[in-house]
Amino acid sequence: MKIYDVSATIYNGMAVYKNKEEKQPVYNTVQSGHVTETRIDMDCHTGTHVDAPLHMIPGGHTIETLPLENLVRDCKLIDLTHVEGAITANDLSDKDIQENDFVLFKTRNSMSEEFDFDFVFVGKCAAEHLAALNVAGVGVDGLGIERSQENHPTHKTLFEKGIIIIEGLRLKDVSEGCYFMMAAPLKLTGTDASPARIILLDADIK
Ligand SMILES: [Zn+2]
Repeated sequence: MKIYDVSATIYNGMAVYKNKEEKQPVYNTVQSGHVTETRIDMDCHTGTHVDAPLHMIPGGHTIETLPLENLVRDCKLIDLTHVEGAITANDLSDKDIQENDFVLFKTRNSMSEEFDFDFVFVGKCAAEHLAALNVAGVGVDGLGIERSQENHPTHKTLFEKGIIIIEGLRLKDVSEGCYFMMAAPLKLTGTDASPARIILLDADIK
């Protein structure tokens, strides 16, 4: 069985949004005799994570409301490694994307472990295209599904349709195709996001 771990490693010094120092995870390890205990202080949007609508919509749904059935399921990985800047509706028009698909976009973001201020993101017209298709979810390999666009139209367009957003995937080693996805956010409650371990299995072995 081929298992692809498409999650980022969480460590102090990892890529964080806009390289902001306050977003770095901090490990604090205490040792007493034979006992070691570590406490971690980190943002819910650290590394590979699932966003909840509350992130961009005041009073929106929180992370624990996302059904696991929508996160543990088939997905389609689409290769967009040729795209620079915004992914547009045009970039997606010749791709096989159907209603209820969970799509993951592999871009050049996956090729580097550094934060890139010019990371590839999902443009507003692509978000509208995906919303019109009624996809179930969109996963990206940038630390944002958009680059702080004014009013965050991509997040809002997708959240308003109940479309799940995953950010920070690491897709360098995975090729375009269909996979079975196991996306497991931590069982936090009331939050706008959660770090997640995300695993893809080759579709033919599920
Ligand atoms: Zn996020």
